[in-house]
Amino acid sequence: DFVTIMDMKFLNISKNDLFQDIIYPRLHNNEKTYLVTANPEIVMLAKEKRDFRDMVSRADYIVPDGTGIVIASKIIKQPIEERIPGFEIMTELIGYAEENQLSCYFIGAEEQVNRRFITKIKELHPNLLVAGSHHGFFDLNDRHIVDSIKRTEPDLVFVALGAPRQDAWITKYYDELDKGLFMGVGGSFDVIAG
Ligand code: UDP
Repeated sequence: DFVTIMDMKFLNISKNDLFQDIIYPRLHNNEKTYLVTANPEIVMLAKEKRDFRDMVSRADYIVPDGTGIVIASKIIKQPIEERIPGFEIMTELIGYAEENQLSCYFIGAEEQVNRRFITKIKELHPNLLVAGSHHGFFDLNDRHIVDSIKRTEPDLVFVALGAPRQDAWITKYYDELDKGLFMGVGGSFDVIAG
């Protein structure tokens, strides 16, 4: 079930169904996935900037992150069931990855923040497989990170560069990667790093 708001096709399902029916099966089938969680700022950015719109149009799924999207859906009389915050998707996926021994790669935030985030996440999830991590201040043309991902083949790649940079990185390298769930997570590492 989908609802289109300003040309963006949002998933209209519960968080539970998003995991059970879409994300977990795709992870287990090694189906490459690009997930976008969009709030009103993202919708406006896509409306204004063609290059960003083209990036986001490559997403397999766009999830309504933010009450503004839910409100907009009600106004156009195609109500979206619930808002699914990207931060919650990330934390839930990390827990699932630990339980199921799926490996994670974490790109983004300032160097110290990224380091603190990794320390914290390993404390919270001692059995988590961390395929690798890198801070977020690098040139998008730098192949260092994509090459590292090709070598380590993570199941989940969290990209915390903020929009539009995170989507620019994901879409730039998406075609050359064979597997993984990729999602932009904005300032989430900062939140967990504290
Ligand atoms: N960031 C980064 N590289 C950059 C610009 C930003 O890694 O070149 C990081 C920044 O340190 C922060 C995150 O991206 O951790 C952006 O967070 P913000 O709250 O701006 O994103 P939003 O959640 O609003 O999309």
